[in-house]
Amino acid sequence: MNKICTGVVAAGLLFMANTPGFAQQKSLVNTSNSPYAKLKGVNMSAVKLTNGFWADRFKVCEDEMIPYMWDLYKDPNRAHAFTNFEIAAGLKDGKHTGPPFHDGDFYKLIEALASVYAVNKDPKIDKLIDEVIPVIAKCQREDGYIHTPTMIEERNQAAGAKEFKDRLHFETYNLGHLMTAACVHYRATGKTTLLNIAKKATDYLYNFHEKASPELARNAICPSHYMGVVEMYRTTKDPRYLELSKNLINIRGLVENGTDDNQDRIPFRKQTKAMGHAVRANYLYAGVADVYAETGDTSLISRLNLMWDDVTERKMYITGACGALYDGVSPDGTSYEPTDVQKIHQAYGRDYQLPNHTAHGETCANIGNVLWNWRMLQLTGDARYTDVMELALYNSVLSGISLDGKNFLYTNPLSVSDDLPFQQRWSKDRVGYIALSNCCPPNVVRTVAEIGSYLYNVSDKGLWFNLYGGSELSTTLTDGSKIKLNQMTTYPWDETVSVSLQEAPRKAFSMFFRIPGWCKNAKLTINGKPANVNLTAGQYVELNRKWSRNDKIELTLPMPAMLMESNPLVEETRNQIAVKRGPIVYCLESNDIPKDEKLFDITIPANIAFKPVKTTIENSPITMLEGSAISTGKGGWKNTLYREVSTLQKPVQIRLVPYYAWGNRGHNEMAVWLPLSR
Ligand SMILES: [Zn+2]
Repeated sequence: MNKICTGVVAAGLLFMANTPGFAQQKSLVNTSNSPYAKLKGVNMSAVKLTNGFWADRFKVCEDEMIPYMWDLYKDPNRAHAFTNFEIAAGLKDGKHTGPPFHDGDFYKLIEALASVYAVNKDPKIDKLIDEVIPVIAKCQREDGYIHTPTMIEERNQAAGAKEFKDRLHFETYNLGHLMTAACVHYRATGKTTLLNIAKKATDYLYNFHEKASPELARNAICPSHYMGVVEMYRTTKDPRYLELSKNLINIRGLVENGTDDNQDRIPFRKQTKAMGHAVRANYLYAGVADVYAETGDTSLISRLNLMWDDVTERKMYITGACGALYDGVSPDGTSYEPTDVQKIHQAYGRDYQLPNHTAHGETCANIGNVLWNWRMLQLTGDARYTDVMELALYNSVLSGISLDGKNFLYTNPLSVSDDLPFQQRWSKDRVGYIALSNCCPPNVVRTVAEIGSYLYNVSDKGLWFNLYGGSELSTTLTDGSKIKLNQMTTYPWDETVSVSLQEAPRKAFSMFFRIPGWCKNAKLTINGKPANVNLTAGQYVELNRKWSRNDKIELTLPMPAMLMESNPLVEETRNQIAVKRGPIVYCLESNDIPKDEKLFDITIPANIAFKPVKTTIENSPITMLEGSAISTGKGGWKNTLYREVSTLQKPVQIRLVPYYAWGNRGHNEMAVWLPLSR
């Protein structure tokens, strides 16, 4: 079977090389031949980040995140992920150590390295990956199964060692990340070493599905494999993988005694609300969007639209974070008998239930939000999905990693008070290794490594600008004609984006510029003259003409600081404001108020004027916001639950810091939502 598949790939490549759209075959999510995707990615090597925000983050990724995390994952005394592979391969003796999803986290890290290599072609990175792949190959079973906890048990002849015996072993999650990493590695390097392992694993899953659908259904915990299997189909063109991806959704309905926490109490096609574990939910929605891109099954997209409305209208934090609750209950699907109420964890709450101190907002869930919205954008070309992607990326994804790239958050609270008299399970200070669950760190590293792939798309009509960032693009349109350009901007700190064309097709084509949903009064000039087009917030503006070399487009996106309020049904933020400037959500940290003031005494006048101030934290350029607030100055809440309103009103100077950069200057109290002054 393996030989046949290799033949399919080889034949497919020959075919693709002569086919328009070939240039998009090496994109991060390869929708180049997806019949129901309007947009296609550009190849992973097509975008070079040159200056500004994302170039800065990518450089930290290359120089700090990747070496730090690679050393961590290769060190058996800290993370045991690679050692587990060595033991499973028979190269070392020992036991499996670490969470059952450790394999998947190592695959994510390989994906991150491959994504960086796609851009910088650093042979040292290629070599690092080449060194570990033979070990992974060596521990794969002949039938394609690969999951180190079970395989080490088998090797140690432990009683009861068996695949899929426990749904919380995350086997399919691990397999899914293997598939995605293998596709990315193949696209970045042209090598099939990891892809061949992933093909055997996908074949295994296909065969296992044939004989054991209910078991496979029950084990679809945190379904990264929906995305993985579809990407394997796109890479190999093996029709069995598409069949498997469709069946994976159908068999969810076969689960007996499913839970809302795992989104399998109700068959997917009957679901109306986003519920349960938010990473699992968002990965499911992203995977279903992939299946829709290939099949056009309207019963899938109609559900995704319901979920998207539910999340963005009632359940998402202002930072784009998902999953409000550490723990909770799902009372909806069962009777109201207390014994029937289901426990949920790390989960979407009820509509408008968005607490701040105890917000969960796992970094992986917020990345899942990006993965899902990226796929919705590929299907539709609708800028509302790009808005959510951008919101999550700049705020609740980047908040998961320190500016120096070496410390991480599992949860992303919107408020931290040292007076809160209880501790929660996850640290509110970033740490180098999240011992219980290090799923988020390699996930955020791969996301930063892949950021260039999110900037642009192509379609049959032309080129799309999604996220703005200083970059050089060299790609082809879907008809094979070449385009090269340079984008210069220090967005999101400054409002101007300049694009100069270096090479353009002779015939007319369109360039689509995204006007962010938050942006009023955008302006656009072509070669210095105002363009006669409508620049509607929350839409892509289409500029169709014959373009030529040296044409210049300048887009101005005014970004005054804005005071935001929430729907009054969000009890936790009533009569409070959050500050946004462009896509960046701000917060107040206790080291940016006068020393004798308490953070939770600070209130914000509705007419406050914020002044942007450029500075650096950990060598990263950052724009803070300075303004004059009011302190009610009474403090002293010890042993007090209620008291008469304070009449004290004292002006205080404050500085707001971008939310993603909070906690980078030592331990501080922090709040995104601040009360309006009386
Ligand atoms: Zn995570």
